[in-house]
Amino acid sequence: MPKRFLVTGGAGFIGSAVVRRLIEQTDHEVLVVDALTYAGNLESLASVAKDPRYRFLRADIRDLDAMRQALADFDPDIVMHLAAESHVDRSIDGPMAFIETNIVGTTVLLQAVLAHYRTLDGERRSQFRFHHISTDEVFGTLGETGYFTETTAYDPRSPYSASKACSDHLVRAWYHTYGLPVVVTNCSNNYGPCHFPEKLIPLVILNALHGEPLPVYGKGENVRDWLYVDDHAAALILVAERGAVGETYAIGGHNERRNIDVVRTICTILDEIQPDEGGPRERLITFVADRPGHDARYAIDAGKIEAELGWRPAETFETGLKKTVQWYLDNRQWWENIRSGQYRGERLGLGNED
Ligand code: NAD
Repeated sequence: MPKRFLVTGGAGFIGSAVVRRLIEQTDHEVLVVDALTYAGNLESLASVAKDPRYRFLRADIRDLDAMRQALADFDPDIVMHLAAESHVDRSIDGPMAFIETNIVGTTVLLQAVLAHYRTLDGERRSQFRFHHISTDEVFGTLGETGYFTETTAYDPRSPYSASKACSDHLVRAWYHTYGLPVVVTNCSNNYGPCHFPEKLIPLVILNALHGEPLPVYGKGENVRDWLYVDDHAAALILVAERGAVGETYAIGGHNERRNIDVVRTICTILDEIQPDEGGPRERLITFVADRPGHDARYAIDAGKIEAELGWRPAETFETGLKKTVQWYLDNRQWWENIRSGQYRGERLGLGNED
């Protein structure tokens, strides 16, 4: 049965993957609500832009009137909330935008969505969901062993993760206090097509292509659990449609890798596809001063979503990374429009992994 999905942040990296999947692989209708900050890019939605089931509204989630109007006009069955400030280094340099969008914006959206939910009745009311998309960074850092699960205590350590932790708590408060039917997901690091080139994997691909230094924080020993973005999008749609109200699902790829190994693997893949006259690209690796408060290790136990909803990632890290490198080679126009001097050599351009 086709449903109406309102997707905030649908012009971003993960949101656009969700929207492409909803339009290309389901019968659902989609309204993207996105402010188009530096991270929002309509070119990531170009493949679905002409579909009659797709609509776009440029609006800020902090604007209560705009959110109320969008909800009244579109009358969604499901709201998937991905709009956020998402870059850890930017949160260190300028935390206020993270407080405003991730905390205030989420609260404004919750108010507007609750009012919409209360207008529904019967089956539509019982099937309505507010799906809040979050990160495993809210759990802080792990030692060499152990995994984050749905019951891990919150211990955020960066302004970004603290603002996301706050938004998670607010969403659960709207469930317990007002009865809004919510589902929450906390996912590990994503990679794949349409990833803004301030993050580790796209930055390393593009710098390696251009023969530029490949900056790695500290000794490159921080460990992240990587998930291909289309596998995340599939998990998110599954949770939005079939997740149990009030529940949280941890999502991860079982792909723990040290940053230095991620960078070396990208060099090897590129060397195979497009050898560099200067020799193997590992020569470009440059170690730089570590990020303040850099979490050592993240890893997810995704057993609950696997057992309860039957989700499994389709890609291994190796297959997903090959697809990603090939996507950047095939979609020069997408990143040439973004890549400019301001993302090179500055702190924001160091290519952190989250
Ligand atoms: P992104 O930065 O690529 O996209 C964010 C989108 O939100 C952009 O399109 C931007 O224009 C929009 N936006 C920002 N502020 C807004 C506002 N005030 N009003 C309306 N729109 C606004 O982020 P992403 O990597 O796609 O992440 C999406 C969500 O998933 C975030 O909530 C993030 O915390 C979470 N998440 C990300 C990762 C990851 O590895 N990237 C992993 C787990 C969870």
